[in-house]
Amino acid sequence: MDNKKIDLTLSVIRPERRKFSVSAKIEKQILKKNSIPINTGNKMIKVPICQSCGLPVGEGTHMIEPSEKPTESLLLCKPCYYPRNLDELTMPSNGYIILEPRIDQTEINTLICALWYSQKIYDDDELLGVIEQLTKSLSQKKTHADLYIAKDISNIEYLTQVLYQMDSDDYERRYNLLKHLRWMPSIESILPTMEYWRRNCFGLYSPKNWYSLINSIGKEREKKF
Ligand SMILES: [Zn+2]
Repeated sequence: MDNKKIDLTLSVIRPERRKFSVSAKIEKQILKKNSIPINTGNKMIKVPICQSCGLPVGEGTHMIEPSEKPTESLLLCKPCYYPRNLDELTMPSNGYIILEPRIDQTEINTLICALWYSQKIYDDDELLGVIEQLTKSLSQKKTHADLYIAKDISNIEYLTQVLYQMDSDDYERRYNLLKHLRWMPSIESILPTMEYWRRNCFGLYSPKNWYSLINSIGKEREKKF
C-alpha cells in the first residue's frame, strides 16, 4: 500500500490531466491494493482506505483521481478528493474557501466530519455548544480569505477560473498563493461519506472517540480562534 503524503493544495483538473482515465478493471485493482483489514467490533473485514487520510471508503463514497499511469491513480475519499479537483464542485452548496493557516486541509476534513457526525449522535448541550462555536469560527474565515488574499477568492467558481487561467509555470507555483487557503466542505458534499462510516460502524474510527477529541480541541482553540 502507498503511504506517501498526498498534497491537498487547492487544484483543478488542468487540460494535460483531462486526457487521463481509469478503466473499471484498473479501478478494481486500485481498490484491492489499498484495502486493509479492519475490526468492525464483531468481525474483521477488508475495506479500501483513502490514500490521503486513511479513513475507510466504499459504496459510492470513493473517488479515483486518474494519473498518467493508470495504475498510479489515486484512491481518495470525497473530502480529500475535492480540494485537488475543485472544478468538480459545481454547486454553490458545495462549500467555500476559507483562510486558515493553522490547520491543514486533512485536519479540516477530519474535524468537520467529526463535528457534524457528533452533532447527529450526541445529545449533550455542552458538546453541541463547542461544535457550533468551532463551525462558526471556521465559516467566518471565509471573509478573511476575501479580505487578505483576494476579493471573491472564497467563491469556488472564481478560484477555479483563476487556476484555469494561470500558465503552467504559475500553476506549478500556486502553493505560494494558496498555502493558507482551505476548502470548507458543506455537509451535503460529505454526507455520503459520514453515512458510510455510520452504517458500517468501524470500531477503529468509532465516533465515540470523537466526543473527547472535540471537547479538547474546543478548549484548546478557545483562545486561538
Ligand atoms: Zn481521505
